[in-house]
Amino acid sequence: MAGPVGVAIHGGCGALRREDLTGAEWAAAREALRRSLRAAWDIVGRGGSSLDAVEAAVTVMEDSPAFNAGHGAALNADGFHELDASIMDGATLRAGGVSCVRRIRNPVRAARAILDEGEWVNFAGEGADAWAERAGLAMVPNAYFTTQRRVDALRTLKELEAQHASHRASEGEKHGTVGAVALDRAGHLAAATSTGGFNNKPAARVSDSSVIGAGTYARDGVCAVSCTGRGEFFIRLVAGHEIASRMDYRGQSLKEATDGVIFGDMKRWDVGAGLCAIDANGNAVVPYNTIGMYRGFVTPQGGLHVGVHDDLALVETLVV
Ligand code: ASP
Repeated sequence: MAGPVGVAIHGGCGALRREDLTGAEWAAAREALRRSLRAAWDIVGRGGSSLDAVEAAVTVMEDSPAFNAGHGAALNADGFHELDASIMDGATLRAGGVSCVRRIRNPVRAARAILDEGEWVNFAGEGADAWAERAGLAMVPNAYFTTQRRVDALRTLKELEAQHASHRASEGEKHGTVGAVALDRAGHLAAATSTGGFNNKPAARVSDSSVIGAGTYARDGVCAVSCTGRGEFFIRLVAGHEIASRMDYRGQSLKEATDGVIFGDMKRWDVGAGLCAIDANGNAVVPYNTIGMYRGFVTPQGGLHVGVHDDLALVETLVV
């Protein structure tokens, strides 16, 4: 008998304060979250694979200027975009990732192409761009990713840096990411993540979002996880794999394991952190410790929920 399906997404825990965006901009961000969830649900709800679903969900958010991934991504200290993404199939443990790419329109698609090709897991920099171009993926000039919001954020961060006051920057100015997790009818789990990283980051810095086990992890029978927050800590904790290990070896629930990392381990460093995760029964969680996190999920009963701050709400009921 076919099992339950489920989908959860995040658009980063570097959420803006309510007053930073207009009503129309908030509505556009929420609508992009809804479309992302719909894209994934349209696949798993019709018997498609969780791997296709997470790629589709992340592609929608990469194409939206509301999030720090793809179009609308952060700028590094040299004023360029360097993007990271990865994807993992919980059924086979196959995975793909790209780091510091500058010209691939949808980095998550390149990650998927690497996974499908099967021999390697992660390509970086110019070589990764060249590999994607040869694979026939859509390529764009680096300026395609630029939005005024990110130009302004880079200027603010550089000014604060000059005053030795970088700590005064808001989470929204500093960082963001997008990610998705899904469970399909066959019981397979998958996760995908994509980011522009931190604004004003040094060139060639690699985030957790392209590191399998850190920002992205999926294992059938256990969970799928996509993280957001200061990547260095997620890499040091190997956060995604850590959550799966606590569930598998310690018998913790998804909520216990994810809360343990976000509200326990991360507390030690006082860093903004969040994630979306789903277990083998389709239970989804979206914990975060910042003022807000773009997030959403569809329950196994079809309830599509979207929110940013304390406004998480059922916005649509989908056919199961
Ligand atoms: N994890 C991303 C990074 O370290 C940023 C984020 O998720 O907000 O670049």
